[in-house]
Amino acid sequence: MEAINFVIVGYGGMGSYHANGIMPTEGERINLVGIYDVSEKRQTVAVEAGLKSYDSLAAVLADQTIEAILIATPNDYHKAIAIQALEAGKQVVCEKPVAMNTAELDEILAVAKSTGNVFMVHQNRRWDPDFLVIRDIYQKQKIGDVFQIESRVQGANGIPGDWRHLKAHGGGMLLDWGVHLLDQLLWLVNSPIKKVSVDFSYILGDEVDDGFISYFTFENGIRAIVEVGTTNYTKLPRWYVKGTTGTAKIDDWDLSGEVVIATGRTDVLSPKPIQAGVGLTKTMAPPSEDATEKLAIKPVEANFVPFYQNFYEVVRKGATPIIKNDEVRAVLALIDQLFQEAGIH
Ligand code: NAD
Repeated sequence: MEAINFVIVGYGGMGSYHANGIMPTEGERINLVGIYDVSEKRQTVAVEAGLKSYDSLAAVLADQTIEAILIATPNDYHKAIAIQALEAGKQVVCEKPVAMNTAELDEILAVAKSTGNVFMVHQNRRWDPDFLVIRDIYQKQKIGDVFQIESRVQGANGIPGDWRHLKAHGGGMLLDWGVHLLDQLLWLVNSPIKKVSVDFSYILGDEVDDGFISYFTFENGIRAIVEVGTTNYTKLPRWYVKGTTGTAKIDDWDLSGEVVIATGRTDVLSPKPIQAGVGLTKTMAPPSEDATEKLAIKPVEANFVPFYQNFYEVVRKGATPIIKNDEVRAVLALIDQLFQEAGIH
């Protein structure tokens, strides 16, 4: 089947990562023809990389040889570009966050529905190796029934770039990393949320959040903490997940960490009291050696195809999208709810 001819709209950091890092791995399926970027500097970079540089979005949309576009502009432009592209008959991949809020997304989805064109959002961290390990542990009940999930990303570099500092462009960390962590959480737990609360951080003095800590209780009883920080000079584990028979701690994207489970042996000695600080404790003493064992943390293959392969199959063969628009909407609706909880509109 024929490759899909693509144009990238917004050839900045992520646009060029699609061009150089993701699309080339899809060889025969995706044919990147060119870009459109408002910045002359980025246009020059594209031409030097052998890509066609279009001088307007209208020129991209008028080009009948182009079947699909990727939107990788700042967040506030996603809606207008997506709607124009869908109306022009293009298939659309859009970077996350799909839009500034659910009202905007609903406008896009209505046009996708009326035109019948594909609209798919690049919520790519469903493919992250650390997430796949946690998903495997969760689904196979390797630590028993999971009852607590803590998912964090923390750095010390503040809010990056320029537009991410500004509310008008959809800046801030909830609309940035928050999308990924919430998408992973909702996809993993797949139960309605009963209760939420959130604390936003404004340590750096920006008009948008430089991080947040959010708390969720799902109807199935699972509790979760999702945290993004940009003011953390040393960090907590990427994942800390508790189950009824074990605990998983994945420290980083490199899969360092440990998964410890109870052996269930009944003949083991009970832990001995230990000196702790200036006191004595049995409660906090390590379990006796035979009471627990460590599971090896090995990379887990995704049992779903890569993003652009899926996009290709959706467009060419009517396959089911891995990232469904109602899931994308649920993440954005949750983000809206967190902003509302904090009185931010
Ligand atoms: P960036 O600032 O590096 O790049 C944005 C580019 O868009 C710039 O080159 C800018 O000149 C161009 N641009 C601005 N307005 C435009 C317009 N109206 N039409 C065409 N081009 C325009 O930003 P980025 O970090 O690449 O982020 C872009 C998008 O990608 C954001 O939505 C961001 O959230 C998303 N993103 C996703 C991931 C991911 O892992 N999925 C990672 C990073 C960024």
